[in-house]
Amino acid sequence: MLAVAVSSGAFRAQRHLGRLDKGRMNLGRSWLSSCAQLFWPAHCAGCDVLLQSDDAIFCVACAQSINPVGLACSACAMPQLGHGGVPDRCPGCARRDYAFSRAFAGFEYGAAIGAAIVRMKHGGRPDLARRLGRILQDAISRALATTNGPPIDVVLPVPLHPRKLRRRGFNQALELARVALGLLRDRSPRSMPLPRLDRQLLLRTRNTRELGRSGPGARRVEVEGAFGVSDARHVAGRLFLVVDDVMTTGATLNECAQTLVRAGAAEVRVVALARAV
Ligand SMILES: [Zn+2]
Ligand SMILES: [Zn+2]
Repeated sequence: MLAVAVSSGAFRAQRHLGRLDKGRMNLGRSWLSSCAQLFWPAHCAGCDVLLQSDDAIFCVACAQSINPVGLACSACAMPQLGHGGVPDRCPGCARRDYAFSRAFAGFEYGAAIGAAIVRMKHGGRPDLARRLGRILQDAISRALATTNGPPIDVVLPVPLHPRKLRRRGFNQALELARVALGLLRDRSPRSMPLPRLDRQLLLRTRNTRELGRSGPGARRVEVEGAFGVSDARHVAGRLFLVVDDVMTTGATLNECAQTLVRAGAAEVRVVALARAV
């Protein structure tokens, strides 16, 4: 399905998506997947066109706008050229402080990823969250691996306010994290335990507006004090990875990290499926 690489972006994305799927399927799964494809054929996550294979997530046309984030600023995850080949801070982050220690992103927020995320969140499509979770594995894996100290203890999705959760029916960040971690667990040796996913420790205590095109200042104000923890005893001294679907200015993820740090977290890293560029 994705054999025709039209642009370098499409080619990189196809290589990336192919690599993620390698080794994932054993024989039983591939049989199940063939049956599922027969009865419930997969559609492109970006534009809904019919796909030939359940393993593909985007069609050829949509894959052209999929750009994995390679070398990026370690503070804001914005794609950039490294200094001497070492990922470092971008000029904008050189003198900025974040509550999280590092940020990671899977893909640049382009047309197809954007369309898939909007359809997932606002089109009532939890199935898309489960499929997009497959392509979040690589970024989560990088976020977990980057350390000289103790490993991450707990993965937390950015929570939705209970009112929004009732309306949407699912938390996209939780679904993305759940699928990605589950697949990583399948691929990892038993000797390499992965952090557990906690869906209740981080809470959204205040409902916030959809931030849409708001600027960095407005975003910061809107999310300030919007989060809390259910039990600070489970936060103190621990290392966390907070997962979201999109990182725009980093205000939401930073506020989550700030909440955890204030409650005694030893370190917080953050990861998003897509980074607005
Ligand atoms: Zn498409
Ligand atoms: Zn930066």
